[in-house]
Amino acid sequence: MTTPSETTGTATQKRFIAGAVCPACQVMDGIRMWEVDSVPHRDCVHCGYNDTLNAEGNSIPSEVPTRVNTSGLQAPKPKAVGQALQFFPNPKLKKKD
Ligand SMILES: [Zn+2]
Repeated sequence: MTTPSETTGTATQKRFIAGAVCPACQVMDGIRMWEVDSVPHRDCVHCGYNDTLNAEGNSIPSEVPTRVNTSGLQAPKPKAVGQALQFFPNPKLKKKD
């Protein structure tokens, strides 16, 4: 069984992208880019934002879940958008005695 202890020739070299603006903090010239398995990655040296580019060149923000402290104790946040409860008098439910 061969266990490569060192990966030679595949040193990750981050290069600054001139003129690139961070999508998170809007600071220019803070974006570095590198490739992992021919997949382009980016990060920002100012705010720590980082994302990955897919085959179409679209940005895929890397959301690191904090699963260190919450080990399955918390359920995923429900996306309750536009689920406002409206209490208004419904004539059909009103019963007069
Ligand atoms: Zn940034």
